[in-house]
Amino acid sequence: MNIQNNLHEILTKIRHYELKYGKPNHSVTLLAVTKKQSLEKIQAAIDAGQKTFGENYLQEALEKILFFAHENLEWHFIGPIQSNKTRKIAEHFSWVHSVDSYKIAQRLSEQRPSHLPPLNICLQVNISAEETKSGINPDEIISLVSQCGDLPNIKLRGLMTIPAIKKTLEEQRAQLHPLKLIYDDLRKKINYIDTLSMGMSDDLEAAIAEGSTMVRIGTAIFGERIK
Ligand SMILES: *Cc1c(COP(=O)(O)O)cnc(C)c1O
Repeated sequence: MNIQNNLHEILTKIRHYELKYGKPNHSVTLLAVTKKQSLEKIQAAIDAGQKTFGENYLQEALEKILFFAHENLEWHFIGPIQSNKTRKIAEHFSWVHSVDSYKIAQRLSEQRPSHLPPLNICLQVNISAEETKSGINPDEIISLVSQCGDLPNIKLRGLMTIPAIKKTLEEQRAQLHPLKLIYDDLRKKINYIDTLSMGMSDDLEAAIAEGSTMVRIGTAIFGERIK
């Protein structure tokens, strides 16, 4: 497992797809997803220049954030959020991608320490209408966006989704496309919205084709997760 090579390969693909689909160079950010990956692998990614990392499980994330505190990294929380976990999330992360209720947004805003800049958030949208997935329905986006606008210590940056698994590029694109339309619409109304968080190891190309600005890649960089 050569993390440096994998990272380089993914970044090369991202730049290639930006070009292929007419997106500005470097308009897509790479979030390296390190849940259930070892400290050694994370260190290798840091040594290769990666600064932005995503984690799903709070306890595991806090240990890693502490361990790498001297590295000046940017941590994104991307996992399901229980309300009793919001305080630690608000204290230790720069971004949260998985906000799916006003209650959670409100708690994150209230609990964000005053010496830190506003917490960047994305609303998680369940575009595939899968019962098992968290996220709001597309028709709930507008009202949650306007509610979040009144919260002082969070900054709404955009939308995030975890789509159902599809095999072909066409199927993957078709599934992501409606969210891109909603995102574009939202940007016309709120000028500081700039983030469409979609795309994982298996749908990277489709996500960039459909206008993703932040891809969340785990196994393609770090290999299979432990456990
Ligand atoms: C695990 C995870 C990823 C990364 O998935 P890979 O298939 O390993 O690239 C991205 N986003 C979320 C929300 C995840 O939980």
